[in-house]
Amino acid sequence: MTVLDELSQVSILEVAQDLGLEVNRNRMVCPFHEENTPSLVLYPHTNSFYCFGCAKTGNSITLFSEIRQLSIKDTIQTMAQTYLSGYSPQQYQKSAKPLPAKNTLQTVDVKKLQEKEKPVEEIHSQIYEAFRDCCLQQPSNELSKSGLEYIKSRGFTDKTIQDFRLFMVKDYANVSWYLKQRFSTLDLQESGLFNDKNNLIFYAHPLIIPYYRNGRIVYLQGRVLGPPPEGHGRYQFLYKHPLTLFNADALDKIKLDQDVYITEGAFDCMRLVQAGKTAVSLGTANVFKKDWAKLFKRANVIFYLDNDKAGHKAADELEKIFSHFGLTCSRKQLPDEYKDVNDYYTDKLGSNEQLNLF
Ligand SMILES: [Zn+2]
Repeated sequence: MTVLDELSQVSILEVAQDLGLEVNRNRMVCPFHEENTPSLVLYPHTNSFYCFGCAKTGNSITLFSEIRQLSIKDTIQTMAQTYLSGYSPQQYQKSAKPLPAKNTLQTVDVKKLQEKEKPVEEIHSQIYEAFRDCCLQQPSNELSKSGLEYIKSRGFTDKTIQDFRLFMVKDYANVSWYLKQRFSTLDLQESGLFNDKNNLIFYAHPLIIPYYRNGRIVYLQGRVLGPPPEGHGRYQFLYKHPLTLFNADALDKIKLDQDVYITEGAFDCMRLVQAGKTAVSLGTANVFKKDWAKLFKRANVIFYLDNDKAGHKAADELEKIFSHFGLTCSRKQLPDEYKDVNDYYTDKLGSNEQLNLF
């Protein structure tokens, strides 16, 4: 391993900190172009950065060299003295030869240690957020316009769309390439965003519903815009990745005995929130993890599931689980002619709300 290889493994967060840059959740105000809101993102997992404002990109070494305005040779010297134990300038001057095995081993050990400490969820959130950031940065096109029209036709207001931070995959090939540049194949597949064939899973489902927890994206769900193409469902869930609650952060803010609706689909949940209610969604009728139940201990839970066999069966089972934990719950039934909460609300309120949306 050359000095250069070793330096490119120095934590970009550490480098940014040492350079006096102010980093918040891996984001900072870009020092390479004029801006007020931070659009430069640091990727600790690959020790690289990318600015969504000016497209400046690089690694720990280029960041150091640009900020300190050093030649690449001086950058390497300075960084090696700072970050590599046992480094001596003579070794570098004789050059490009690998460092003695002892040093290499030390560096590798430290890196392995750091990787062990980094929880896998953190890497997945970084991948999901890089995916979102790249999609948001892609210019609007016909697809994204029809996406927005579609969401609005389902009765959602601009505020709801913004509050839930929905976004569109506007250029599938671009975001797929972007993620492959920044993350390992293994991490991308483990995050569930890429399948075993190493393809980004949201090909037919470009409307993305992000699941946030404590301000971080913890799950992603895609949706088709019209009827699903053959062999696909309306929704695409992450590949071999456990589902989580949608809008779970709302549960942190509830008052004792406040009504909280549990719906099946994310759209149903969004629709209830738009109507001023507190709601979370399961994503699907057939998953509920027992440890989610404790999140509802202050709430008066109302199941508001789909009006079909699966929905009724799920409500029966959820009532059993909640009763078992001594939690208060009841059930709200949709009128027969409506399949789910969103359909019900769209029919009832749709006409007057859609007027100002188009
Ligand atoms: Zn920039």
